[in-house]
Amino acid sequence: ASSAKFFVGGNWKCNGSVANVAKLVDELNAGTIPRGVDVVVAPPFIYIDYVMQHLDRDKYQLSAQNAWIGGNGAFTGEVSAEQLTDFGVPWVILGHSERRSLFGESNEVVAKKTSHALAAGLGVIACIGETLEQRNSGSVFKVLDAQMDALVDEVKDWTKVVLAYEPVWAIGTGVVASPEQAQEVHAYLRQYCAKKLGAAVADKLRIIYGGSVSDTNCKDLSKQEDIDGFLVGGASLKGAAFVTICNAAG
Ligand code: PEP
Repeated sequence: ASSAKFFVGGNWKCNGSVANVAKLVDELNAGTIPRGVDVVVAPPFIYIDYVMQHLDRDKYQLSAQNAWIGGNGAFTGEVSAEQLTDFGVPWVILGHSERRSLFGESNEVVAKKTSHALAAGLGVIACIGETLEQRNSGSVFKVLDAQMDALVDEVKDWTKVVLAYEPVWAIGTGVVASPEQAQEVHAYLRQYCAKKLGAAVADKLRIIYGGSVSDTNCKDLSKQEDIDGFLVGGASLKGAAFVTICNAAG
């Protein structure tokens, strides 16, 4: 396992309204979060200001769900890493499978976004993972290698990166990877990092699992040697369930 703190991210995706964001923030504020766990929530851009003002930031940090590949300029509809830093948002999720599949973000684009966001001062939750077809055809490690190779080419300092292994077949499907399936990949990724980046980086890197994590399956997953936390989609929209997941460490 990583020697760093357990890490739980909540990816709200394109969900929420003024009314239910307020309710979710209240539920989160009512929860108890262990001191030794980093918890980061990622609301849609439009609600970040509200969440920043109302969420208990002794317990929770904020993240965006995406950022532009470069600095400010004529890029209609985008938000830059520099703007996130300026606004006081410390984290960004990059390379989520929905960005890759729906918006055509390649391994190279995700890697360039990651190095730009890190240079702007953000921490990055970098997402990788294979599709069901890729798993069934036996190419899981080949796919992960290509996603990782692109990141390794661009990222020089890994101290502010959290790596999220999110098998696409498990995201939003209710089909969670078994603890053994997840552990196998996490151990592979840690080995990959030890080989390419050195043992010290690999030991400190948080490798978190995402894909249908719930308040009932989180405990077994968290016991696995190389699972250092979770990235949570659906269950992060329910305050009590998310708080339970944040308390699953070890
Ligand atoms: C995600 O979107 O990162 C995710 C893991 O979603 P879910 O927990 O709903 O599968």
